[in-house]
Amino acid sequence: MSKNHLDTICVQGGYTPGNGEPRQMPIIQSTTFKYSTSEDMGKLFDLEASGYFYSRLQNPTCDMVAKKICELEGGTAAMLTSSGQAANFFALFNICNCGDHIVSSSSIYGGTFNLILTTMAKMGVEATFVSPDCTEEELNAAFKENTKAVFGETIANPALTVLDIELFAKCAHAHGVPLIVDNTFATPVNCRPFQWGADIVTHSTTKYIDGHGVTVGGAIVDSGKFDWMAHKEKFPGLCTPDESYHGIVYAEKFGKEGAFITKCTSQLMRDLGSTQSAQNAFYLNLGLESLHVRMARHCENGQAVAEFLHDHPKVAKVSYCGLPDDPYYQRAQKYLPHGSCGVVSFELKGGRKAAEAFMKQLKLAAIETHVADARTCCLNPATSTHRQMTDEQLIAAGVPAGLVRISCGLENKEDLIADLQQALEAIEG
Ligand SMILES: *Cc1c(COP(=O)(O)O)cnc(C)c1O
Repeated sequence: MSKNHLDTICVQGGYTPGNGEPRQMPIIQSTTFKYSTSEDMGKLFDLEASGYFYSRLQNPTCDMVAKKICELEGGTAAMLTSSGQAANFFALFNICNCGDHIVSSSSIYGGTFNLILTTMAKMGVEATFVSPDCTEEELNAAFKENTKAVFGETIANPALTVLDIELFAKCAHAHGVPLIVDNTFATPVNCRPFQWGADIVTHSTTKYIDGHGVTVGGAIVDSGKFDWMAHKEKFPGLCTPDESYHGIVYAEKFGKEGAFITKCTSQLMRDLGSTQSAQNAFYLNLGLESLHVRMARHCENGQAVAEFLHDHPKVAKVSYCGLPDDPYYQRAQKYLPHGSCGVVSFELKGGRKAAEAFMKQLKLAAIETHVADARTCCLNPATSTHRQMTDEQLIAAGVPAGLVRISCGLENKEDLIADLQQALEAIEG
């Protein structure tokens, strides 16, 4: 693990040029790689040697960026994926087979909720959803004999609940399974879930890590701490021979540090091919170089906007864990002491209709299905990202129909507040 501060890793991690080599991370825009003998290449195919042969599996530029994210999270191995959806799917599917079960927080991104509830169910993987605020007893009660993973989001999109990572990790470990945490909103700048017991971290790098709304992407990072072999019977994919690689046992050959990502790359990426392009990884790296500087401003703007909305007579409720009366304030003080993110959600007293009218009036904040980039944007989840959900599911996910989510960008906070102010003035109370 790197000894440098996170700021320095953001700028220089993942790639160190040698003498006379490019200062900027090179884009290796090549699908394939040349070898002198078939024997050399055969070793790669057998996972006997590490190296590149086809960019669907691994590409040097993607690996440099994955390495940087790995260092930022304090993990032992990482990989990029084509999207955050692919990252969460791969992280779960790498250890869950048909007939298995997942325990998940109910307060998660709508796309991930659909993935787990619908698509993974079709593959025979079932889930039990629990409140992010459940007690230890309630959480323990959700486990089954065939449970293989626990899933949650550090700061949930869009409900902005904060996960009690330590509690979720404790219960996961008591049942011999890993905790997978989607750390998209907090980023490693504000929270490093491995420090609190999480085993695998995922990201939609589309959000703050890119930070400019340029590339869709994802990442998976392994803490290297989960002992697969100690729970051999639960994880046959990692602990018994893989016949598609001449009987390799990943957990034996690559150890705790490397087994999860090696299997995920060499099986899931090979067979399902949700790879990130080298060009996109390059853009991602540009975003990463300023992540630590940007997150501070996103948080400053988020806090100022949350405080303004909190005191406004037309606003019924504001969710932002930086507000002292927010139900997640205490938990955020523990897990997110330097700030959470720039996303604030709030409910207007006038409900769904007021929300629509309000959003139309905004000049700086654009209506987008995006969050977490340099430009402020807003969204009504019930009519967009969460439109597949029933009203009951919306409430369970903490996203009532009249909720507006605003993602504070990097603009001046006074201008953002003035924009909100004029839009609030223009609507009926
Ligand atoms: C956006 C998002 C995802 C999905 O990521 P994509 O890059 O859009 O596929 C997953 N988790 C969280 C928390 C997100 O915000």
